[in-house]
Amino acid sequence: MRLPRLTIITPLYNEEGSLPEYRARMTETLERLPLEYEFVLVDDHSTDASPRLARQWAAEDPRVHYLRLSRNFGPHTAVAAGLARATGDCAIVLAADLQDPPEVIGELLDRWADGYDIVWGRRDRGDGQTRANRFTSALYYWMIRVLALPAAPPTGAHFALLDRKVVDVLKHHPEKNTSLFALIVWMGFRQTSIVTAGRPRHAGRTKWNLARKLKLAVDSLVSFSYLPIRLASLVGVLVSLLGLVYAVAILINWFLLRPVAGWSALMVAVLILGGFQSLMLGILGEYIWRSFDESRGRPPYVVEEEIDPAQPNLASDPRHQWRQAGATNDPAQRPRTPEKMA
Ligand code: UDP
Ligand code: MG
Repeated sequence: MRLPRLTIITPLYNEEGSLPEYRARMTETLERLPLEYEFVLVDDHSTDASPRLARQWAAEDPRVHYLRLSRNFGPHTAVAAGLARATGDCAIVLAADLQDPPEVIGELLDRWADGYDIVWGRRDRGDGQTRANRFTSALYYWMIRVLALPAAPPTGAHFALLDRKVVDVLKHHPEKNTSLFALIVWMGFRQTSIVTAGRPRHAGRTKWNLARKLKLAVDSLVSFSYLPIRLASLVGVLVSLLGLVYAVAILINWFLLRPVAGWSALMVAVLILGGFQSLMLGILGEYIWRSFDESRGRPPYVVEEEIDPAQPNLASDPRHQWRQAGATNDPAQRPRTPEKMA
């Protein structure tokens, strides 16, 4: 009988303070479970010691697949890069900061065994998030449900288990400028959620600033809803109707030889119309820009370095070998560059 194979996908961005503890607790938890497993560590171009720690982990444990992206692409893209490399029957996406305890893996697998293809995990209030952060994330999930995807879990998700079927769809249809959460909700399959006791971050700080949150919110809306365009057209129709009514009122006044309202009414109309027009152009622009970005066919992410246990040759770094070559590489001993011909 074959044991189930699990892939743990960990996006990493400046997590040197949490990684050693994460490694210890993860390994301890997984060793106790009746399964085979692999880690896919995706370094989202950290600038601290995370890549060194991750490489060391990969060197010491053949179940670790390590890759480093060529710049910071954001956690959703880092997870997508990890999913593209997952070889398990199912994959669990778990952040490295230990806010979501590794011990939750057993519960996620129980739900998977019950027949669910997507198991969302959410942590409760003990995770040390500020009120402002909690409010913005509640607003985001509310907006997704109301405007785009009514099937989304109402309280959102912090981690997830995905069946092989789901991983394969994501692998073969990579998208840019989208929310991975919304994309997975959109897929359907059998979905459920669990709640766990959250903890504050083990170390470091969250990387979600306001600009990132805004980008994600607009990405999610534009990727999954045409409501903003509908609203823009509707506003256009309403404003034109209003203009028509106003024109009729002016005509009636003119027939009745009453003085026609002056330039201030005109200014109001021009400003309101101008504002609406810019807003509509902006909304159209959001859609067109994304469609343009997708059509250029650039890869969603670029890999700078990869240690894949299935392809050990890739791990040997030719630059390192050049350095290691030692004495023969001593600049003083190298053949001299010929003098320039006169
Ligand atoms: N992360 C990433 N790239 C980024 C920001 C974050 O890969 O640009 C990783 C981060 O290292 C962590 C996970 O994504 O493992 C979740 O990030 P964070 O804890 O900042 O999010 P929060 O828990 O506050 O939602
Ligand atoms: Mg976190």
